[in-house]
Amino acid sequence: VVITYRFAAMSTPSQIARSTTDASRAVVIGAGMAGLLAARVLSDFFAEVVLVERDRLPDRPQFRPGVPQAAHGHVLLVGGVRTINDLFPGIERQLNDAGATSGDVCNDAIVVVRGRQLPRFPSNLRGMLLSRNLLEWQVRQRLGEHANVTIRPECRVTGLIHDAAVSRVTGIRVAAPGEAVTEIVADVVVDASGARSVTSAWLAESGIATVPETVVDARVGYASRRFRRPANWSEDWKVAAISWQPPTNRCAGGVYPEENGIWVASLVGALEDIPKTTEDHFLAHARQLEDPVLYDLIRDSEPVSKIAGYRLLGNRRRRYSGLSKRLGRLIVIGDALCTINAFYGQGMTIAALEARALQAQFSGVALDDAPAVDRAVRRAQRACETVLTIPWLFSTTEDFRHGTGVEGVRTLTHRVASWYVDRALQVRSERITLAIFRTMGMVDPYALFRPRVLIEVLLMSALRQIGSVLGRHGPQESATMDNR
Ligand SMILES: Cc1cc2nc3c(=O)[nH]c(=O)nc-3n(C[C@H](O)[C@H](O)[C@H](O)COP(=O)(O)OP(=O)(O)OC[C@H]3O[C@@H](n4cnc5c(N)ncnc54)[C@H](O)[C@@H]3O)c2cc1C
Repeated sequence: VVITYRFAAMSTPSQIARSTTDASRAVVIGAGMAGLLAARVLSDFFAEVVLVERDRLPDRPQFRPGVPQAAHGHVLLVGGVRTINDLFPGIERQLNDAGATSGDVCNDAIVVVRGRQLPRFPSNLRGMLLSRNLLEWQVRQRLGEHANVTIRPECRVTGLIHDAAVSRVTGIRVAAPGEAVTEIVADVVVDASGARSVTSAWLAESGIATVPETVVDARVGYASRRFRRPANWSEDWKVAAISWQPPTNRCAGGVYPEENGIWVASLVGALEDIPKTTEDHFLAHARQLEDPVLYDLIRDSEPVSKIAGYRLLGNRRRRYSGLSKRLGRLIVIGDALCTINAFYGQGMTIAALEARALQAQFSGVALDDAPAVDRAVRRAQRACETVLTIPWLFSTTEDFRHGTGVEGVRTLTHRVASWYVDRALQVRSERITLAIFRTMGMVDPYALFRPRVLIEVLLMSALRQIGSVLGRHGPQESATMDNR
């Protein structure tokens, strides 16, 4: 056994072998949303799933250091709600009972893009508003009901183990406080250790492969604060997200309900307009948003937390599936595979859809058929990377709008996508608005590119153009669509 690990000078570790030679085991690194959902799916196929987490895991919804983003507003988009409900039937009701809010993403949300509010109307698209801590805790409780899943908290993965031929991963090395370093043998290892995953560095250091990475970085930062909802608050919306209008206005923000009458206001900025964590600056940033709704809400609300800051790592996408030399039986998912701009709220939904992709690839595979398992792993990695196609395109296209200070290569696809999204946002019909939400919510990521939608967007754009050439205003917007 050849051992790859980051820190040398380790003693020979003891092994946690399988209980019988033919029992199958999957190991998942990281108990964030991606790891929890992957473990749930793999528990249907493997005799045993071991989920290894560096943090101590709280026995109630509570902040933990491994998920610092929980200090900031989190929404669960439609595709995420549906998938998580399928994987854990009834979980939405449990979350609602614990104080989470379900809402119609078209009707209950104020979404301001390019300085204008998207039309509001009833739809069948339901998202969830809740603290990240509650969601993760509830999912962890439900996962714990699966008898073949073992969650090992306070257990840090220090390296991967592979076979002598360096052809496949055979397990992981873990260090737990006060214990000797141990190896956990596995048939398949899933890395869900988040944006700071070291798998690609491990592969490079051990000379196995250089994982290609694409970066588009608008140097986005967050500042978030929790407020008590005023007792007399009575509006017809549940959540507000106000996007930026770059390059003239790089300030964005959202206000999201959590449990127990708490709002979290997350302010976001790019390049030199990152929100600071001082009280004055926080309010000043809120005042600069394209719509006053967030500022108006927090101005008179009672703050119940400090202001927490966060710098995103940029849009960062790694491609494991196309490597000429691969380490078999290893799958990388979640933020470890790709991070996109968090303001678009898609990370947990992507994690859910990647779990679905794993499910599809392992379905029907006999785990004692080694070549079939190898194939399933390869396909699963590819399928997870495919899930990212549209969210990546959307997030990077939007981030390039911040101008020349954005790190990364703007391709023709970005230019076309930017042109098309601008046109789609001008249409303001129910069909196009629904398509935008279906794409963003990942119910149907290609909804905006379906023929009827394409035709309507292009036709309306042409009419607007003709109207302006003739010196008139473009096609009239439907007054009934703009509810505010
Ligand atoms: C500011 C911000 C706001 C966001 N808002 C939204 C939103 O509104 N909606 C949305 O869907 N997404 C949002 N996201 C993204 C979302 O949080 C993640 O994409 C999603 O949680 C998937 O993360 P993950 O499970 O891959 O990684 P993480 O949540 O980072 O979890 C990784 C886990 O791995 C553990 N770990 C790391 N290294 C090791 C190791 N060596 N050994 C053992 N364990 C290890 C960590 O402790 C952690 O528990 C936001 C992100 C940020 C930063």
